[in-house]
Amino acid sequence: MDGKKEVSNSILFFLISVMLISLFAGASVYDINSKNSSLKQIIIPKYDNVRVSFIINDITFKKEDRLALNNALILAKKYNITFELGVIAQQFNENSNPETFKIYEDNKDAFEIIAHGLTHGSDVIFTDEFNESGSYGEFYIPSINRHIPADVQEEHIKKMKGIFEKNNLTTATKIFAVPYYEGDENTIKLAEKNGYKLIIQRLSSVQNYTEQHYGQIIALESYVYIPPYNIFSSSDLIIYNNKMMDIMAAGKKNVYISFHQINLEVLENADKFFKNLIEKNPDVKFAAISSRFEK
Ligand SMILES: [Zn+2]
Repeated sequence: MDGKKEVSNSILFFLISVMLISLFAGASVYDINSKNSSLKQIIIPKYDNVRVSFIINDITFKKEDRLALNNALILAKKYNITFELGVIAQQFNENSNPETFKIYEDNKDAFEIIAHGLTHGSDVIFTDEFNESGSYGEFYIPSINRHIPADVQEEHIKKMKGIFEKNNLTTATKIFAVPYYEGDENTIKLAEKNGYKLIIQRLSSVQNYTEQHYGQIIALESYVYIPPYNIFSSSDLIIYNNKMMDIMAAGKKNVYISFHQINLEVLENADKFFKNLIEKNPDVKFAAISSRFEK
């Protein structure tokens, strides 16, 4: 009998320990930044070190970009968030409008520019053979499994970076969101060779939020893709919130929510999206991508 009691006591002890450990596992009590001697206790949130960044792709700073940028600015101020602007270098070089670009220049605390290709599509540079197949994608065309030759890819990356350098847009010489998120291994290696530190693109045929380190560059596919429409239904809000949670649950530290300008063209609807996401996740840190590199 005693033996049995001892066994059940140990089981009870074990269960209590497990409960206590799980209670405290997510909440340590260090304040590493404490400058004075008082040991202020802080609870480290469940998603500590996770950064969620918002990207608006296909920005060229033409006149038509103004609506989305102005709305993004309103949201940035309201929710204390920042937006990455995925800029297409060649179109920026040729068509940017000074008044539109001023929205960025006057609000660098709300915006950060990242690279989003030289031409974005294959139609500008490649031959009819590519165009006739209804293809797209500057660096890789998955619909026909077309790998763009490495020398062409490198030429594009160099020219893209050159335009950003010329305009002193430093973050766009470090962070690269590949057009359509479609690139191959060469895209990553060539971006690294040309000084990029972070590249966002699909890394496998099924999106599984992989992160890979290639030398000096980190390649990530931990993004939530928002399709190009401007009305969000309540089920959309749940779906995208859940996708973000999935990535965090998979242990990824960087999540990118990827928009098109059209998503931001109706302010009321865009506001619904951000209100839902931010209020539902009070312990998630929404921050600029470059903050990853700050010490
Ligand atoms: Zn794009």
